[in-house]
Amino acid sequence: MSKFVGVTELPPDPLFGLKARYNADSRSDKVDLGIGAYRDNNGKPWILPAVKQAEQKLITSHDYNHEYLSISGFEPFFNAAAKVILGGDSLAIAEKRVVSQQSLSGTGALHLAGVFIKQFYNGNHTIYLSQPTWANHKQIFEYIGFKVASYPYWDNETKSLDLKGYLAAIEDAAPGSIFVLHACAHNPTGLDPNEAQWDQILKALEKKQHLVLFDSAYQGFASGDLNKDAHAIRHAINNRIITSPIVICQSFAKNCGMYGERVGAIHIIATSQPNDALNRAIKSQLNRIIRSELSNPPAYGSKIVAKILSDPQLYAQWEQDLITMSSRIHQMRAALRGKLEELGTPGTWDHITSQTGMFSFTGLNKEMVDRLEQVHGVYMVSSGRASVAGLNEGNVDRVAKAIDEVVR
Ligand code: PLP
Repeated sequence: MSKFVGVTELPPDPLFGLKARYNADSRSDKVDLGIGAYRDNNGKPWILPAVKQAEQKLITSHDYNHEYLSISGFEPFFNAAAKVILGGDSLAIAEKRVVSQQSLSGTGALHLAGVFIKQFYNGNHTIYLSQPTWANHKQIFEYIGFKVASYPYWDNETKSLDLKGYLAAIEDAAPGSIFVLHACAHNPTGLDPNEAQWDQILKALEKKQHLVLFDSAYQGFASGDLNKDAHAIRHAINNRIITSPIVICQSFAKNCGMYGERVGAIHIIATSQPNDALNRAIKSQLNRIIRSELSNPPAYGSKIVAKILSDPQLYAQWEQDLITMSSRIHQMRAALRGKLEELGTPGTWDHITSQTGMFSFTGLNKEMVDRLEQVHGVYMVSSGRASVAGLNEGNVDRVAKAIDEVVR
């Protein structure tokens, strides 16, 4: 008899389960459009030239070692990371209003944010997520004990933003609720608000004094430009649109191709006026959480990213690498759309090119996605989300023909 009770076996994680089925598939022409990881034109993982060069510099430097980092992480990394997202000329940084710490990539930042907010936020503890959103959001926050609700985002009829529904949900939520916003390259829809819509959304959030939690996992992937992709965050802060607290969860997994190294940061802007004592207290509490959960964050990836962020030549190379990745994805969007239109595949396909970032919300339903996998060996998430980064010149024809077959 086991002393463990109620341990039921759970189904595999949908995304990693999909990856396992793909790996087990023996078809040589199978295509992986599942997990959100960049692939080159040969379908292979890509080590960014900026990362390769930074790695070389790191391991040949005289002070290279594998010592522990401090509990907060690698300071040159998280301070430079704040500048990447907030801008070098950020008012909030200049006014010392930003508390930054290293995290276990974006997921760890979201978890840390959740634990901190749960313990210290004097507001409504309901977290609003976009409908749809990255599947892990709900799990991360429910695990910590939050009530999770959703706000309308994607209008399936028009394949565009349901701004009216979004604004109504902000208005209807109890004052001081928590709203999770995708900073750019919304996952899974690939649909971002335009600048005018962001302005409206942020002002509506401010009016109700909601706590804004930005999830920035794809900076540089939407437009290829780090600054443009930080527009919503910088507009909220620099133009003092949001005066209530802002929490930013930042990942370098995608934009540095450092998926497995778990490089990320959390930035908390607690007040619209400088408050050193409060910021020191926040930092100490974050340190307590980090110390008890992981003692201190991993060093290797954060040192590489810090090198890129502190060396102008490497930074320029990184900006170039972002253009390489985002423009290849743009080309694949155009190729897929073009081929579907050529085939006369029923439906409209312009959303594939108007969407941005790594994903396309294709509009395919679950039955179609199942058939794509079973008959054609083309793997995507059951919601119809395709990772466009998995397309290349060698497989886009086949994928278009497969989509054509399952849609008819
Ligand atoms: N947020 C969103 C919207 C994501 O899509 C992801 C990864 O897919 C993450 C956060 C976190 O990624 P990571 O923990 O690998 O940095």
